[in-house]
Amino acid sequence: MEKIVSLCKRRGFIFQSSEIYGGLNGAWDYGPLGVELKRNLKDYWWRTMVHERDDVVGMDGSILMNRAVWKASGHEETFTDPMVDCRTCKARLRADQIPQKNGVPQCPNCGGKDLTEPRSFNLMFKTYVGATEDESSITYLRPETAQSIFVQFKNVLDVSRKKLPFGIAQIGKAFRNEINPRNFTFRSREFEQMELEYFCRPEQGMELLEYWKEERLKFYEDIGIAREKLHVLTVPDAERAFYSKGTYDIEYEFPFGRQELEGVAYRTDYDLSQHQNASGKPLEYFDEEAKQKFIPHVIEPSAGVDRTVLALICEAYDEDTAPDDKGKQESRIVLRFSPRIAPIKCAVFPLLKNKEPLVAKARAVVNLLRPHMNVFYDETGAIGRRYRRQDEIGTPFGITIDFETLGERGDDFRDTVTLRERDSMKQERVKIADLVQLLVARIS
Ligand code: ATP
Repeated sequence: MEKIVSLCKRRGFIFQSSEIYGGLNGAWDYGPLGVELKRNLKDYWWRTMVHERDDVVGMDGSILMNRAVWKASGHEETFTDPMVDCRTCKARLRADQIPQKNGVPQCPNCGGKDLTEPRSFNLMFKTYVGATEDESSITYLRPETAQSIFVQFKNVLDVSRKKLPFGIAQIGKAFRNEINPRNFTFRSREFEQMELEYFCRPEQGMELLEYWKEERLKFYEDIGIAREKLHVLTVPDAERAFYSKGTYDIEYEFPFGRQELEGVAYRTDYDLSQHQNASGKPLEYFDEEAKQKFIPHVIEPSAGVDRTVLALICEAYDEDTAPDDKGKQESRIVLRFSPRIAPIKCAVFPLLKNKEPLVAKARAVVNLLRPHMNVFYDETGAIGRRYRRQDEIGTPFGITIDFETLGERGDDFRDTVTLRERDSMKQERVKIADLVQLLVARIS
């Protein structure tokens, strides 16, 4: 993990939030490359979950909602973690994460054994809306995006005229005042979720739970996460929410252990029923054939953007050797991102920066590619160095413009370039006119 965290900072994927002031525990900023990676992930999720389906529509809800939402959903009462204090060093610890030594719980901070009894700690960030800070103005930053989908269920149903089964998807920020944020971005206090609420008839619930588990596994494979590193945990009855008829956790083998990337839960009609009862507004679905009204059941695949970004970086990280400009093998760090999610798709290099025709041609290639993908232009340093810099940030393709491109070695090679592939380091000679088609096919 240390190598990954240091690469993330050095190359501009992820920085500590408020770093110059000593940081803020559990908050992270994405730099120039991190934001591209994150955006590609979210875009691909949206493409497969919304655009490529007839049965899912999207929405974008507010982060602040009426406090009544959090009372009805059960979050105000029960969205808690058990917390324990160490009386020796005053550390606040999550009770379910305290290590034991010879069967005795011990503070991971100072080794102290004098711990308080567990107490419930609500994970929602409390805030006040408006100019008065009193009981009537309290609300919370949302701890999940799902609730705005439930409370807008009727509006979205009416405007989209969907028939069951159908889903509403959302990507957005969520906030949890985690007791012990840790493992880099894995457990943060501010993070993003990609959630789908897929509404169905009660009798379809169990089957659709299986369907969505498989769809979601396929998604992770499609963004480059090896199937062997993914695990499906069937959440046991005792650990499942009382209203859920089945829950799977999709886990990934992070360097710090096997941990949850996404939960896929069959939540029955719990959420819509709660909001219908509390608001007094009908949230039912009218089945025209059976002339019957009922509250739909729901399957929820709920994924973390930041956790998936971290998994993508962990999965991509590799070290191997590559020849330098003189053919000598040297070690390289390479991020083997799937071209689909790589922050930069293609780097363009003029062989020499002081030869104007090479630079002009390279600039022309950049302009040709730019409408189709994120391209990076680099003219400084030896070509081997430039390749190496791109390998380290996971750019799958590199294009070099040389004297052959300018036609100096005959017309056969005029307007052709060298296209180098990051993983195999193989180089092929390609016509500039074919570049767009060839690359677009490999990155989509
Ligand atoms: P955990 O058990 O790890 O706390 P959870 O089961 O509480 O997670 P859910 O409520 O199911 O998580 O949230 C759905 C998804 O949101 C998680 O699978 C995860 O990817 C993401 N997520 C939840 N909490 C955090 C967090 N503190 N930091 C980053 N991502 C999170």
